Amino acid sequence: MKFISTRGATPAHSFEQVVMTGLAPDGGLFVPEALPQFSRDEIASWAGLSYPDLALKVIAPFVDGEIPEADLKELIDRSYGNFRHEAIAPLVQSGHNEWILELFHGPTLAFKDFALQFLGNLLDYILAKRDQRVVIMGATSGDTGSAAIEGCKQCKNLDIFILHPHNRVSEVQRRQMTTVLADNVHNIALQGNFDDCQNMVKASFADQSFLPEGRQLAAVNSINWARIMAQIVYYFWASLSLGGPHRAVSFSVPTGNFGDIFAGYLAKQMGLPIDQLVIATNQNDILHRCISANDHTTHALQHSLAPSMDIMISSNFERLLFDLYDRDGAAIAGLMAEAKAGQMDLSDEALARAREVFSSFRTDDTGMVDTIRQVWADSGYLLDPHTAIGLAAARACRRDSTTPMVTLATAHPAKFADAVHAAGYQDEPELPAHMADLWQREERFTVLEQEIGAVQQFMAANITA
Ligand SMILES: *Cc1c(COP(=O)(O)O)cnc(C)c1O
Repeated sequence: MKFISTRGATPAHSFEQVVMTGLAPDGGLFVPEALPQFSRDEIASWAGLSYPDLALKVIAPFVDGEIPEADLKELIDRSYGNFRHEAIAPLVQSGHNEWILELFHGPTLAFKDFALQFLGNLLDYILAKRDQRVVIMGATSGDTGSAAIEGCKQCKNLDIFILHPHNRVSEVQRRQMTTVLADNVHNIALQGNFDDCQNMVKASFADQSFLPEGRQLAAVNSINWARIMAQIVYYFWASLSLGGPHRAVSFSVPTGNFGDIFAGYLAKQMGLPIDQLVIATNQNDILHRCISANDHTTHALQHSLAPSMDIMISSNFERLLFDLYDRDGAAIAGLMAEAKAGQMDLSDEALARAREVFSSFRTDDTGMVDTIRQVWADSGYLLDPHTAIGLAAARACRRDSTTPMVTLATAHPAKFADAVHAAGYQDEPELPAHMADLWQREERFTVLEQEIGAVQQFMAANITA
């Protein structure tokens, strides 16, 4: 399978090249030249498969023989072997024909483990084959960093450096990162905010001359194609559990960078009957404004109690736009320049196409907290703040009560105690057993001033020879 860039000015890449490259050289994002297509009969024949076996069915056509199937199977089995629930992604009923897909049973209690456990193993496999080492560098406001570190800590062929804003991530999130003591894992607490961290990463990718000879940076942020690909699987999984593909299922997705919900869109394009895809946003609502009112104007970032959705411009939206504009790379380059300058207008046709597939909804901290409180009172089920926004959106946007509606539960409530307390929950939300000793574990991180030379010097001194 070949992969092309959404900006149309990069030669086609292979699967392995795309996994290693992240962002395309022309500034666009990679997408498959053509998506695999599955017939209803084929999808139906997957009913009853285990999660890893289903993942192999969905992922194999993208890899297209570049990795022998037995090796791919082993990588996938290993990636989901660290999950703490036998079902990997269990469904819980939350109302009439209304379900919650719990995606927080991985090592760091957020859905990002689904992609990053796999990406770590995949990168390490490709690097070993090429007899190569790389340096992973990333910025995090919380969830991505811990999931990336857990995904990479056992990799033999890479060093990982994660920058987080010093004193500005939650205690659980920080400890999930800093208590991983593997030699190839380095946490940098930067004296600055998340944007400062991200700027350090961008500058380092742009000029990699600080790295030792022959070493290059690799990215594990959500624009990496392999992450999106791994997330397609659980849409098939949920559908098959709820009577698909013989009936359509709808999904509501707490959205930040548009990676998770874009995977749902791909599942639909690949042949899975999906009715509604609901984009759920918090007060950083640019996607809701765009879909509902063609208003893609950048506003100042607002800090919310659902911080993993605090995003100004959603990178993966570009991948959808590419399809909405009939894969016209030049048009996308133009649109993205507009978006970067602060305002982007979609054509009537593009907007109409988007609305055929997506609905959208926004709520703020107050609405989110009300949802946590109400669901807790109704059923004793404790939602995390991101999931609460997803469920509120599912209920608000649902058009048909005979179609199952699934909300993606993107994190475990214990990761976000502030929101849970704001909803009137008195106790500390309990961490799952495998993390119960998190507060006792030894931490290791390095505080650095907000200065690119200091960061790069630290990295150069700590990269495995
Ligand atoms: C990353 C994250 C999101 C947003 O997912 P995107 O793929 O960026 O849209 C939502 N909820 C949680 C808990 C997350 O960690």
